[in-house]
Order: sequence, then structure tokens, then C-alpha cells
Amino acid sequence: MAILEIIKYPDERLKTKSSVVETIDAATHSFIGDLVDTMRASPGVGLAASQIGRLIRVIAVDVTPKNPGHGLIVLINPEITGSSGAKVGREGCLSVPEYTANITRATNITVRGVGKDGRETVIESEGFEAVALQHEIDHLDGILFIDRIASMKRDLFKRKIKDM
Ligand SMILES: [Zn+2]
Repeated sequence: MAILEIIKYPDERLKTKSSVVETIDAATHSFIGDLVDTMRASPGVGLAASQIGRLIRVIAVDVTPKNPGHGLIVLINPEITGSSGAKVGREGCLSVPEYTANITRATNITVRGVGKDGRETVIESEGFEAVALQHEIDHLDGILFIDRIASMKRDLFKRKIKDM
């Protein structure tokens, strides 16, 4: 297990679509360990594989204990199969550390994917956890939260030093 470097915007890898994981083997498990360790060592609540430079469809999210949620979620090849509601919330990203922005996201989502154990799993999520999942799944498609800003003038904010 290792804590890896989180790559930063405008690194091209953050704009690249990640590949589907075809086989889950020891190397995948070792990589997931690194992904979770790196997330835990950071001030963030989620991390996508592309953020540590691996262009494969794997994400980790854990919004607890500060927010309600499922605890640690690791998903391989996640897919949003249902969503409802819409709410604007402030978002940040470990790969875009200097900014936050107001982004509209679904309030409730259903996500399907393969868990660490190799089994197909379906997660119903809401609120902050649902936002984090949408944010991380976007990373797998090369989409950053700043790509979803409706108005740069109104919705983009430079982080104050004390927040960093
Ligand atoms: Zn991010």
C-alpha cells in the first residue's frame, strides 16, 4: 500500500476517458489499496483512479463520519443507472485545489458497479454522498467539476489560503 501523488489540472490525464476494467486480479486489489490510502491521506472525500494517473474506471468515496453515507465505497466500472432531483452545492477537487464552484447535481442516484469483492453491486445514495459519487464518476469520463460550471462569473470561487 502506498500514498501516491495526486495529479493536478491541467494535466491531460484528467481530461482523458478511462478504460473499463476487464479483469480484477491481485494488481487491481493492490491498486485499490493505494487509491484508498491516498484518499484517506488527503482532505478529500473521494478519489478517482485517473487522479493518481491510472486511466481505469475505479473510484473510492467515503463521506463519513462527517456526513451520512455508506462508509467506504469502492466501485469498479461504476455507472449511474438512475437519478432524480437537482440541487446546487459548492464543490472542490483535489486535482483543482485553487478553486471551488457551485455545481448542480442530482440529489438521489442509483449506481451500479463491481465492488472490491468482485461482485456486482447496486448502491442507492443521496445528498452529499450522491454528489461525491457523481463527481468521481465524472472523472472517469475526463470531466472535471469546472467543466460543469454554468456561469464562470457567478459560480467560480478562488479558495482562500486558510481553506487549502
Ligand atoms: Zn475531483
